[in-house]
Amino acid sequence: MSDFNIKLLEELSNEFGPSGFEWEAQKILKRYVETFSDEILKDRTGTLIFTSKGTSDSPKIMIAGHMDEIGFQVAAITKDGFVKFHQLGGWWDQTLLSQRVKIRTVEGDLIPGIIGAKPPHVIEPEERSKVVTKAKMFIDVGCTSKDEAKALGIRIGDPIMPDATFEIWERPRISKDDNDEEKRESVTLAVGKAFDDRIGALITAEVIKQLKAEDIPHPNTIYGSSTVQEEVGLRGARTAAQMIKPDIGIALEVDIAGDVPGIDETKAPAHMGKGPSILTYDGSMIPNPRFRDFVIKTAEELDIPHQLSLVPGGGTDAGVIHLTEMGCPSIVIGIPTRHIHAHNGILDLNDVKNAIKLIIELVKRLDKEKVESFTAI
Ligand SMILES: [Zn+2]
Repeated sequence: MSDFNIKLLEELSNEFGPSGFEWEAQKILKRYVETFSDEILKDRTGTLIFTSKGTSDSPKIMIAGHMDEIGFQVAAITKDGFVKFHQLGGWWDQTLLSQRVKIRTVEGDLIPGIIGAKPPHVIEPEERSKVVTKAKMFIDVGCTSKDEAKALGIRIGDPIMPDATFEIWERPRISKDDNDEEKRESVTLAVGKAFDDRIGALITAEVIKQLKAEDIPHPNTIYGSSTVQEEVGLRGARTAAQMIKPDIGIALEVDIAGDVPGIDETKAPAHMGKGPSILTYDGSMIPNPRFRDFVIKTAEELDIPHQLSLVPGGGTDAGVIHLTEMGCPSIVIGIPTRHIHAHNGILDLNDVKNAIKLIIELVKRLDKEKVESFTAI
């Protein structure tokens, strides 16, 4: 099975990079892809593009994963030195209280802080059962006045990231084999922040790396793209796609793992560890059905674990890629991840390996004729 660089995943996960402030994380990826890409390009929103030239210029395949993570920005500093914030991307208020964050100053210092609100002792009984909204929260950086916070270098507009450190967990998996015998395996899980969607950016890089390392021929040119500002409206993918003018698009995203308590499987059918998911619908795109079926068939033929999924309540970079110029048949491949849009997500590394394998098999098969067949009338 194709392997990948776990150390790179750790570095990307820990690095600073909320929407609009991705350049440090992009630098890490650039250093990596420079060693095996045919060409390194960039657009002017900050999207990094790295190519693999196959035996033909066309079709042009855009493979995209977004580098930005959800975060915040300083909205105000109170006279007592507390930081009020607004969100970059979609946070759920309940995941925020007591969490650690880091504020990045213009000088590049990372100032730690804790998201706070009034403690329960001073809250009226009827207030205690209610959700505290972001508007009532503040970040405590340990200061007692506005001047002290300013002396740390904090000012309005500074970006803020969740503070969470990457970890690897080995976990048992117990199942039944075909003869109803108990089967025990061990799986490796990655735990940390920003998997949405640095895991997509990493998969994109690993696909291009392995094509080069194993000298795999492909009848097309691939434009790997680590896009920016996805979480605030698919912005970097839009400009990058205008630049690349792709004939076919593959967006890599985290998918919502529905295997946690209380989730209706009609809303999130994918399970962590059961293979990459092939999205059949999301809030920003109906995938080209013939392209989608080609992906499913390829996975079936090669026995690559996969699952069908849908994300009615979210959009992906494919939402803008598929509308480039006269249109660009696109699909979304997801890594089922628990607890996305929070400080700590969990994903299974086997799903990542299988996604890399599936995409390599797809690009080996996507020639001009095949791509044209997806839109034949
Ligand atoms: Zn995402």
